[in-house]
Amino acid sequence: MAVPLQVAVIGSGPAGLYAAEALLKQTDGQVKVDVFDRLPTPYGLVRYGVAPDHKSIKSIAKYLQRVLESPGVRFFGCVELGRDVTRADLLDCYDGVIYSTGAMVDRQLGISGEDLPGSIAATDFVNWYCGHPDAADHEFDLSVEEVAVIGVGNVAVDVVRILAKTADELRETDVPEHVLEKLSKSRVRRVHMIGRRGPAQAKFTTKEARELGELPNAEIHVSPADMDLDPASAETAETDRHVRGNLKVLNGWTGEPAGATPRRIDVRFWRAPAEIVGNGRVEALRLERTHLDENGRVTGTGEFETLPVGMVLRSVGYQSVALDGVPFDERSYVVPNEGGRILGPDGGALPREYVAGWIKRGPTGVVGTNKADAAETVRNLLADLPAGERPRRTIEELLESRELPVVTYTDWLNLDAAEIALAQSLDRGERVKLAHWEAMRNACRPILD
Ligand code: NAP
Repeated sequence: MAVPLQVAVIGSGPAGLYAAEALLKQTDGQVKVDVFDRLPTPYGLVRYGVAPDHKSIKSIAKYLQRVLESPGVRFFGCVELGRDVTRADLLDCYDGVIYSTGAMVDRQLGISGEDLPGSIAATDFVNWYCGHPDAADHEFDLSVEEVAVIGVGNVAVDVVRILAKTADELRETDVPEHVLEKLSKSRVRRVHMIGRRGPAQAKFTTKEARELGELPNAEIHVSPADMDLDPASAETAETDRHVRGNLKVLNGWTGEPAGATPRRIDVRFWRAPAEIVGNGRVEALRLERTHLDENGRVTGTGEFETLPVGMVLRSVGYQSVALDGVPFDERSYVVPNEGGRILGPDGGALPREYVAGWIKRGPTGVVGTNKADAAETVRNLLADLPAGERPRRTIEELLESRELPVVTYTDWLNLDAAEIALAQSLDRGERVKLAHWEAMRNACRPILD
């Protein structure tokens, strides 16, 4: 009987697991898929990006779990490409490799003061409240009263909402205990969310925006002057459902707040960050007023204003990082590809290597967008493979020879059960995340120590 196709998927987030699912579906299960992750936990951004209070989106993990538990699929946690295995190792052990490592770092603003203490990448803050082990010991000074969040995408909305909610409102979520405790002591009273363009260009989705207006302990305000639209934007508002929906929600926030809640959110448009100001730490954010030129490009007006804030959260998009030995476009921060087939320096497709998800197309779309994206990659992979020589060695042999403390799917289930048990013992929701490496390792398997 023919040996089934063997594929390695690097990254166990939605893109990787939708790719595994597409491989199973498109081959009627005649495939072996090994899914690798540098973390001991699967589900990528569903676990470490989706906000803790977005339970319904988080429940996608249940769907992805079924993929991981399908016959023919295996999980290898705590195995990092570049550190533990190389690209050459993978090509030795598999017919094909799909890289789906997402977009792990924040984009830079490139303004003065960006590196001051108190100027924080949204990715770091999100990782912290989502219990990512790399961020478990991060310290954020929540004794400040005013915070600016730069950007008006869905990540900015998440960050604003977490800052504006009380710890009691987050008690039932899976945020780690130390995070909940820190949030319970937060003195943040006012959060400014800042768009460099106008309300018609806001990237957040209407459903997510609406939630901000429904917070019981925070009033929200947008100045009527900020709602001014240039003629082109007014035209878009007529035809574009997303823009129309956003404008309707935003127009509902133009009344003066009554000051009846402990926290307040101000959404500000037409302001580009010019400088983060402070002596040794963030003390203010300098903004330049903007308008759109005839080509729709954002342009400074030369008028400046300063917001007295003690923290600036930069939420201006994620960025993928290059993988060891894999081609990478340093301008667009994706792996050059055609339909998921990785392109080499000469523009031709590299044999047996593919990409899916954010590292393929950039950090756009919602979780479900990755399903069609991964299916396209898999269609191309299956059209190409198997080609020529079959795998020369097994991954088990390779990992064993390196004595790597691999986390198996069963180990992950132990960690999963420990988090559920912790929530019960604390009388807190369905799960409380373990965020520190040591606690995670211990929960996986005591012999990992
Ligand atoms: P995003 O949607 O691309 O938003 C980035 C924001 O940063 C935009 O408002 C952008 O403004 C602004 N920005 C970029 N560079 C800037 C600069 N130099 N100065 C000032 N502002 C700047 O990115 P994201 O919020 O990180 O979200 C990433 C993806 O994840 C999106 O597809 C998002 O929908 C998705 N996501 C979804 C959910 C959900 O469904 N609940 C939650 C979180 C994330 P311009 O438009 O002017 O560039």
